[in-house]
Amino acid sequence: MGPRTEPPRGKRAPYKASARVRRRVSLASAADLQTYEMVTNSVADMVSVVGEDEIYRLVNDAWCRQTGLKREDVIGRSVSEVLPGSITAERRHTLSECLRDQRPAVLRDVFTQPGGALRYLETTYAPFAEPVQGVRCAALVTRDVTAEEMAARATQASQEALLAAKEEAERANRAKSRFMSLMSHELRTPMNAILGFGQLLRSDKQHPLTADQQQYVEEILVGGRHLLTLINDVLDLGRIESGRLAMALQPVALRPVVEECLALMAPLAQQRPVRLLLPEPDTLQCHVHADSLRLKQVLLNLLSNAIKYNRRDGDVTVRCVPGPKQVELRISDTGIGLTADQSQRLFVAFERLGARQSNVEGSGIGLALSRQLMRAMGGEIGADSELDVGSTFWVRLRSAAPAPAHAPEPPAELPSTAQAPQRRCVLYVEDNEVNALLMRAMLARLPGLQFEHTVSPLQALEMARVLKPELLLLDIQLPEFDGFELLRRLRADPVTQNVPAIAVSAGAMPADIERALHAGFAAYLTKPLDLGELLHAVQHQLEQR
Ligand code: MN
Repeated sequence: MGPRTEPPRGKRAPYKASARVRRRVSLASAADLQTYEMVTNSVADMVSVVGEDEIYRLVNDAWCRQTGLKREDVIGRSVSEVLPGSITAERRHTLSECLRDQRPAVLRDVFTQPGGALRYLETTYAPFAEPVQGVRCAALVTRDVTAEEMAARATQASQEALLAAKEEAERANRAKSRFMSLMSHELRTPMNAILGFGQLLRSDKQHPLTADQQQYVEEILVGGRHLLTLINDVLDLGRIESGRLAMALQPVALRPVVEECLALMAPLAQQRPVRLLLPEPDTLQCHVHADSLRLKQVLLNLLSNAIKYNRRDGDVTVRCVPGPKQVELRISDTGIGLTADQSQRLFVAFERLGARQSNVEGSGIGLALSRQLMRAMGGEIGADSELDVGSTFWVRLRSAAPAPAHAPEPPAELPSTAQAPQRRCVLYVEDNEVNALLMRAMLARLPGLQFEHTVSPLQALEMARVLKPELLLLDIQLPEFDGFELLRRLRADPVTQNVPAIAVSAGAMPADIERALHAGFAAYLTKPLDLGELLHAVQHQLEQR
């Protein structure tokens, strides 16, 4: 190859066909256009050749079919004359740019058909290298992409709808969690007074209770704990529904569970009155595969229903049918019974059947929750009923071999009251006066403590500087700012930065606790407070110093 035709090495020549090649491909004559027309007629897409003067030089058969125009009415005429309104500013711009830059361009646009339907067209503008009869021209190849475009838009719309539905579900879930957490907090606060003062009365060695009073306080505590369990159970229903409930499945001895439930229900039965007919103790000498707390919860629910929906002076009969593979517990009442229709809706949440008209209290979630719990334990629950005779509710659980014996839980003993050399200051920040009174009384069980209290976190900052407490007990929900902010400000002050702090809150969600420990609290105590647990925690923190 000679140096005249070869561009310098390393430098790319601008695209330009050689003179020989140009002559071969240029459409310089009308005859060439005719040949070109024959070729383009075999193409299904619409093809036209338009000059920079916007005059048609060529159209193929597909073009004529689509527009309904005859070729002889088109060639030699301008686009605005042939298809008025079709040469939009965008198309005109694309054509002139393509011819000016000698570069192909693609334009996708939409127009409305006479019937109102939308049509999406994709046109490729390919510039000819050489002018045709002195005019620069481009071949326009137009493809109908309506179906493709519609499909893409439908996919996008359905993806957006899916995303919106997901966001809505997540929003609802967050609202539910907030509500649950708020409700838990509101219910636990009064429970703190009931259970806290009850524990104080029961264990007051300076002013011991009489035997009767001991029994009354015991009933208050048993009832209060039951109520607390129910509060937790309502929250559990939410967790069960979202599959976040933890179960501790293990072999459970049936007898103590059933006996405890019957003892809890005895006062309610006396009040109605309804006779509680107990099972043969021998039939209860077996183990089942269950979570004992959850099983108790189910049995309490069935027993309380059997008592509440009974007739005056009726019977509640509890029977146990142990088998090699499964154990069945049957709880029968002598109430009005259920129709077949009612039996069907029994285990649906918030269905209270005909009870809505009666004055029996209940939330209507008990049986629904019981069914969920039984399923989670791998068991079953059901009912047989006869109108005007009574109903029998049964649960079936898998039999289990007894678990290896382990030591019974130690009673909540008070920590040893070692003599402290001097009075040590504990500052409690709590906006609820009853909670503060309870804390004062509970901490009085530890000798040598100086108890200080304020309802205001702002005042707490001042008090902490002056009193130099050895331990801080901080409520979380406070006026002015919350316990987290209070801890942050205490930590920012050199005088108070090293004082350990225990969070004392009615917020009992695992996330609350995790957040508090992460924020730097040494421990997290939930209301209702357990006397023994509180005293242990306080003493532990003071011993560390
Ligand atoms: Mn508070």
